[in-house]
This record gives sequence, structure tokens and C-alpha cells, in this order.
Amino acid sequence: MVDRRSGRELVQIHNFVYRYPAFQEGQPPVTALDGISLEIAAGEFFGLTGTTGSGKSTLCLALNGLVPQATGGVVSGDIIVAGMNTKRAPVAELAMQVGLVFQDPEANLVGLTVEDEVAFGPENLGLPRDEIAARVDWALDVVGMGEMRRRSSTRLSGGQKQRVAIARALAIRPAVLLLDEPLAALDAALRQSMLAELQRLKEALPDTAILYVTHDQAE
Ligand code: ADP
Ligand code: MG
Repeated sequence: MVDRRSGRELVQIHNFVYRYPAFQEGQPPVTALDGISLEIAAGEFFGLTGTTGSGKSTLCLALNGLVPQATGGVVSGDIIVAGMNTKRAPVAELAMQVGLVFQDPEANLVGLTVEDEVAFGPENLGLPRDEIAARVDWALDVVGMGEMRRRSSTRLSGGQKQRVAIARALAIRPAVLLLDEPLAALDAALRQSMLAELQRLKEALPDTAILYVTHDQAE
């Protein structure tokens, strides 16, 4: 396990600046991140809040390398995730270390059964069958969705979909778990109860750095 006091944080962001390419030729590039520095250690649940358009999702994409590797644009500074520089490390390798849950329940799942959704990552990692099964059981248990494992993910409520999306990310046992406004599409009462559940992820994932992104200051 990485010890915070050792200074070997799982996420290290050093003066990171990012500009998206201009929407149209002749227009200026869009500055989405302007000198961000932060560090997150294993076992830490780090809350990040900011208004819409402040660059939260861009930061998540920069942590898994899609920014700038898929988006282009202009970068300075560095992001080191589990020892990899996200500007250069292969995106497929980063995807094995960085679990990402988006705001939109529909964007997180591909329409398989719940257990197949969760098995997807471990299968991609080429793990043995019993290890895959053990990870699926564990991840579904963490989010309380074990009993719905044979249901199609298309037939779940929004809250259940987000639980499965989290289980899907957990099953790769990521070094870093990014939760990008995972509750924003849910109603207020459910948001409150699921927020408490999310905070308990810390205990299930003592070796993971968790970044929880929200635009809601009250959370
Ligand atoms: P947040 O998640 O905090 O709402 P975003 O990271 O989505 O913020 O957006 C940050 C800024 O980057 C905004 O000004 C947004 O318009 C701009 N932006 C986001 N995606 C793109 C893109 N693909 N191309 C150009 N600009 C973008
Ligand atoms: Mg966003």
C-alpha cells in the first residue's frame, strides 16, 4: 500500500494546464484547466467541487489520458497516475488503473446482464475465470446489487444503474476511482442515501485513491 506520508501519492497533478482545440479555425482555444496542482493518496476520498464548465470532467479525462491523447489541444504540466504520465502512457494501460463513472447512467453501461457488465473489465484484463467470478461477486456485494446480477442492465432504475457502473469500475481494482457527478441525474432523496454509500467505498478500497466530483457545494 502507498503511504501518504511517504509522499508517493497515487495521483499527482503538477501545474496542469489544458486547452481544447478551437471549435472553429480562427477562434481561440478553450482553456479548460489553468494551473491545477493536487495530490491524492491511496485510501483517500477526495471531494472536488466547481460550477458547471469549470473543468471537472476535463480533469477526469486528463486522469485517464483521453485528454489530451484523444482530444488533441495544448497541454503543459504533468499528471502522474500510479506512476504513469497520462500524456504519454498508453490509454489502454491507463484504463486498467483508472475506473471512471460518469454522471449519465446510460453512458456507463452497455446493456448486458448486471454480472456481465461487471465482468467486462476483469475479462479485458485476461484474468482467470475464478478470479473474474470472485471480483464480480465482491464488486456487486460492495454496491449491494448481488441479487440483481442476472437482470439486464437496461431494466434497472437510475440509482441501480449507477451502482452497477460503480461495481464495473471496482472490478478492475483500479488504483484510482473517478466518480464524475455520479449522483447528479438522481432525485434528491436517493442522492442523499447514495452519497453515504459512496463514502463507505473508502473502506472497501483501502488501496485506491477516490476522486468524487460534484457541482453541489452541499455535498
Ligand atoms: P465541468 O465538468 O466542470 O462542467 P468541463 O470539463 O465539461 O466542465 O468543461 C470545461 C470547459 O471546457 C468548458 O468551457 C467547456 O465548454 C469546455 N469543453 C468541454 N469539452 C470540450 C470539447 N470537447 N471541446 C472544446 N471545449 C470543451
Ligand atoms: Mg462535468
